[in-house]
Amino acid sequence: MTDTPADDPKPSYRSDVTVELVKHTASDADVLFAARVSTLGEQSLDELKKDPERSKGLINYLMRDRHGSPFEHNSMTFLISAPIFVFREFMRHRVGWSYNEESGRYRELQPVFYVPDESRKLVQEGRPGKYVFVEGTQAQQELVGRVMEDSYRQAYEAYQEMLAAGVAREVARAVLPVGLYSSMYATCNARSLMHFLGLRTQHELAKVPSFPQREIEMVGEKMEAEWARLMPLTYAAFNANGRVAP
Ligand SMILES: Cc1cc2nc3c(=O)[nH]c(=O)nc-3n(C[C@H](O)[C@H](O)[C@H](O)COP(=O)(O)OP(=O)(O)OC[C@H]3O[C@@H](n4cnc5c(N)ncnc54)[C@H](O)[C@@H]3O)c2cc1C
Repeated sequence: MTDTPADDPKPSYRSDVTVELVKHTASDADVLFAARVSTLGEQSLDELKKDPERSKGLINYLMRDRHGSPFEHNSMTFLISAPIFVFREFMRHRVGWSYNEESGRYRELQPVFYVPDESRKLVQEGRPGKYVFVEGTQAQQELVGRVMEDSYRQAYEAYQEMLAAGVAREVARAVLPVGLYSSMYATCNARSLMHFLGLRTQHELAKVPSFPQREIEMVGEKMEAEWARLMPLTYAAFNANGRVAP
């Protein structure tokens, strides 16, 4: 089947990412339940609320001593909208994650592209593994905006030209850049999310610092905020123990 391109869609440009928590069954009680079942069996649910301090202490102990499996009995599904280059990094996280991304074979891709805003540091200084990012000049910022938009426009016109000539979407999409926005569902549990956050965010409490690309970190920060609300004790224990996944 050939494609019918939309009526001359105009490219639009974004500098943000969005993260929506669409579904969850995740609470600190899930961790306690899983941990206590080994010693208390079926009574463990009744025990949960009896002694909050003990519950907090148990979660902290599990985190500190890296007893990881009790942190797996929960689930969070996020709908994420971000440039394709973010998803390329994201999908390297294989364990405890499920992904479904919109298809460039089955639907015409919309012309929404990433252009960094002025808060995005543009210039890398220092050697690999030991570098920092600093603000760009006004001229560099203008250059990045102009060159990216020109390049995106040209690429999308080429895509449209091929679709109009009857070329399949899966072939024509080869000209589209990694700055194109995509969307995906990503489902994880607290343990896999902690591993992700340890690698994909920078944080003053991190025992093992990481240096992620800013755009995936923006996604990570939004997921972290949702998770912190759902599992406050687990989140506090993660921070208190150097943000190392158990
Ligand atoms: C700052 C930064 C820079 C990076 N730069 C690059 C780069 O230049 N090039 C590049 O290719 N990647 C790069 N990566 C990706 C990185 O190498 C990992 O693929 C990614 O962070 C996912 O980590 P993971 O494998 O621990 O996660 P997961 O795939 O979720 O795995 C979780 C854990 O399960 C275990 N595990 C999973 N699979 C295996 C296996 N096959 N064998 C043994 N144990 C396993 C490991 O303990 C692993 O930590 C970078 C990542 C970061 C954070």
